[in-house]
Amino acid sequence: MTKPEKPEKIRCDACPVMCYIADGKSGACDRYANHGGDLIRLDALTILESSDQKLVPFLQTDQDNLDEPAWNGDIVKGDRPFVTAVGAGTTYPDYKPAPFIVSQEIEGVDMVTVVTEGIFSYCGVKVKIDTDRHIGHERDVVWVEGEPIGHVMTSEYGSKMLSLGGVEHLTGGSKKEGRVTCDALLRLCNREAVDLQIGPENDLINVTVQAGKAPVINGVEERLMRVGCGSATIGMFAKQWLGHADEVVVVDDHITGVLSEHEAGKQLDVPATGIKIMGRRSTPGRYFQVAEPGTGWGGTNIDDPLQILGPFNSKTAWSGQRLLMVSTTGEQFAYFELDDALEPQPAKMPEPLQKSAELIAENCEPSVCSVLFMGGAGGSLRAGVTENPVRLTRSVKDALTHVSCGGAQAYVWPGGGITVMVDVLDMPIGSFGYVPTPALVAPVEFTLRRSDYGALGGHMTEIRRVSDIATPETRKVARSGRAHDPMSAANYRWSKGGET
Ligand code: SF4
Repeated sequence: MTKPEKPEKIRCDACPVMCYIADGKSGACDRYANHGGDLIRLDALTILESSDQKLVPFLQTDQDNLDEPAWNGDIVKGDRPFVTAVGAGTTYPDYKPAPFIVSQEIEGVDMVTVVTEGIFSYCGVKVKIDTDRHIGHERDVVWVEGEPIGHVMTSEYGSKMLSLGGVEHLTGGSKKEGRVTCDALLRLCNREAVDLQIGPENDLINVTVQAGKAPVINGVEERLMRVGCGSATIGMFAKQWLGHADEVVVVDDHITGVLSEHEAGKQLDVPATGIKIMGRRSTPGRYFQVAEPGTGWGGTNIDDPLQILGPFNSKTAWSGQRLLMVSTTGEQFAYFELDDALEPQPAKMPEPLQKSAELIAENCEPSVCSVLFMGGAGGSLRAGVTENPVRLTRSVKDALTHVSCGGAQAYVWPGGGITVMVDVLDMPIGSFGYVPTPALVAPVEFTLRRSDYGALGGHMTEIRRVSDIATPETRKVARSGRAHDPMSAANYRWSKGGET
């Protein structure tokens, strides 16, 4: 009796790892598998269709509504199907054409979309966290599982910013640093929650970040993004306070505002109150550094607002003076009246002032985390489009080629190369993968006129009609009518009377 033949392993050549995969097994990235001797991409190719339906999850999970009708594979009836690179596969090494080069006629123009999943060693995410609370100083290190994966960037108006990933963390540190960084990026890009620790070891701040969700800072879920800085808040709400308070202080870690000294107060004839703020005066009614950054009032470390006040000037202040102190989100507020010794004493807040704090809170937007993937199109990506890659770069800059990621609008940075940035919430769920080199795998599509594709040295013999791409396994994702349309003529210079 002869021994049954052991199934031969096949080699996956979709990335530099070059896995040997046995029958019925998947490769190191779980994206490719050996199915009876054939190398298959495990995630389905995703096609976007214009529709008013809600987005269908890319990978159906137990939580998804399984009663939703499954797609019958008929893409031709859909209005402008767009073949995304999600599930398209990668090409390696660089000289091979992209996995799908698809043509279809759009409003009389023959368009081509080159579809590929790019392997990004040079990539990261920019995270915007809408909060005033201190989540670390600029340049503080961001850690996951004890590994450095990025740093705190400049704060923006009402938001803190993180820069995570990048080639130095993916490849420039230890093996574990690269693996942990890649895993954190993958989860953030696929809209999962990731726990970050920020700052020096003896003063770590825990921040949980998830695209489209409120941040959780040291276990407390943030609610509101501030209405403005302290100075802006004085300007916006000055009239609400007239007649109800003699002085208003809007406590803010960046710019604390003081009504009587502020230009808004001056123009409304608010008299001087003799107040003293313990901070660095910038311009009238605007103070910097009233306290240390923290998770208290207005992003400071204080819970008692009186801490930022010095003694009132006895020549100007008066007994019975009414003082409102409020934070930039209106969530914290306190009302005081000066006693005969000109000391502020807590008092019952008049209703109009209570309402003004509520109005500040009402004008605040919900606090959310935004995750933007950022990466540069390298050799495989560009050579998969054309044999002359620099022509693709020029074509993108000349607005003859439109770049999208999973069908979502990508911002292309000025200057050299094709460096794109895209909001992961605009992309189909589960758009990202990884390879253990380590690198992130992200979908990228280049769309242009067929004539332009020929002119830049495209792989013309590889072009297929969109109707030939669909298989029963292809996944259809509905796209709302308001979503970005990569094939809209408005994306291209030739539609604007430019050179054709
Ligand atoms: S890591 Fe994935 S893409 Fe790379 S060779 Fe292995 S199976 Fe193929």
